[in-house]
Amino acid sequence: MQDSSEIRDIFVTGLKNAHAMENQALSIMKPQLSRIENYPDVAARLETHIRETEGQLERLGTILDSLGENNSTLKDTALSLTGTLAALGHAIAGDEILKNSFANFAFENYEIAAYQSLIAIGARGGYSATIEPLRKNLDEEIDMARWLDSNLEKLTLKFLARRQANVTAKT
Ligand code: MG
Ligand code: FE
Repeated sequence: MQDSSEIRDIFVTGLKNAHAMENQALSIMKPQLSRIENYPDVAARLETHIRETEGQLERLGTILDSLGENNSTLKDTALSLTGTLAALGHAIAGDEILKNSFANFAFENYEIAAYQSLIAIGARGGYSATIEPLRKNLDEEIDMARWLDSNLEKLTLKFLARRQANVTAKT
């Protein structure tokens, strides 16, 4: 490909989209964490991933800076209401711990796809210094997706047991 400025544009747009995606991830996970009372292992994993996500945002900001893109102008905070509203809907239905787990699993896999694509673009465009931090982000998403996957059966059985014991539907 000879038009390297086009690759650069696509890469920068992808990085900005990833930045918005990570802010959305925070807006999904933070309200969930604040509501969990009875699933401490889910809460602990969410707390860890929120910290990881903050680090991912920093890595993306550093990459954008290195490309001369001022990330302070990123207008991606408008998305933050979406996660809150989704979590609220699940709470009303009484099975929020399950629905949030499905949504989180979907979101982590979306993130995995986004970073795989960004890494391919970065490599193709010769942005070799960006590959390692993008891979770190990708690896954290893969770990989170795997954890959600491996925890779903146990979580579901605990949810069932709590319902059968007729305890409150509270997350
Ligand atoms: Mg992330
Ligand atoms: Fe994630």
